[in-house]
Amino acid sequence: MLIFDAHIDTLSRLLSSNQTLADNQAHVDLAKLGQRGKGAQFFAAFVDPQSYHGKALHCTMEMLDLFWQWIEAYPEDLAFAGSGQEVLKIQESGKTACLLAIEGGEALEGNLANLRMFYRLGVRLLTLTWNHRNDLAAGQKEDPGGGGLSRFGEAVVAEMNRLGMLIDVSHLNEEGFWDVLRLSEAPVIASHSNARALCNHPRNLTDKQIVALAERGGVIGVNFCPDFLARERQATIHDVIEQIEYLVKVGGEDCAALGSDFDGISHTPLGLEHCGKMPEVAEFLKERGYSTSQIEKVMGGNLLRICQTVLD
Ligand SMILES: [Zn+2]
Repeated sequence: MLIFDAHIDTLSRLLSSNQTLADNQAHVDLAKLGQRGKGAQFFAAFVDPQSYHGKALHCTMEMLDLFWQWIEAYPEDLAFAGSGQEVLKIQESGKTACLLAIEGGEALEGNLANLRMFYRLGVRLLTLTWNHRNDLAAGQKEDPGGGGLSRFGEAVVAEMNRLGMLIDVSHLNEEGFWDVLRLSEAPVIASHSNARALCNHPRNLTDKQIVALAERGGVIGVNFCPDFLARERQATIHDVIEQIEYLVKVGGEDCAALGSDFDGISHTPLGLEHCGKMPEVAEFLKERGYSTSQIEKVMGGNLLRICQTVLD
């Protein structure tokens, strides 16, 4: 079974801590990926708007370089994937299919030329904002009244549609979310967001958002961040299972996926301490009576489908 994770921040974490993918204190390393059964992984270059202010493009290039260094350094374990077809091919070869994402439109520095060059460097997904406003749109921290997409943000959506890139609405405020859904000609992804009905946090999606995104063929990766899973108690793997069940109930079995946020979160839910534990999610879904085909969709099939639809 393909396990496909839509979002981790291991690039920025290891760039700043100067550790390798083979040997580190992170949530993701080569051995843990092996324990997971390799699978497929979006690696996000997280453009922290505070520390990268004024040098976002430069810092993004360092993270993209680190990604390509890993692909070169570990040819037995990793291979670059730029399409759904390539994910499938790499999956058969027993390696981890590695896809490249950028989290934060600051990286574009206001120029579509940078978007096109990022595509050529392998980037296939862009999270339009982090929590704050940038020159594309406003993050959820700017709500209420943060406003929707800027003219530049609209141009980025159109160019991503043309290039065949995944538009990621995680972190966006609600006005921006609805603008993207109205403008995008392709299905969109919320790579690491949960359902607000189960955990009332502004990073999580309302039922209306879940339904609208799912109706257009979109996919939502359940985020393992304890703050987005449970308020005022320790989050566990059961909260992740409940999020999946809720997304399936509200948006249907074709929208639910995994977007762990490993290495972007300081704490993890009990039972999901690192990426090697992800097969446990499938075990719990089986116990709850989900069919093999449903489990395959949630664990990776839905993400593979949207990659095939948008990237191929
Ligand atoms: Zn994030």
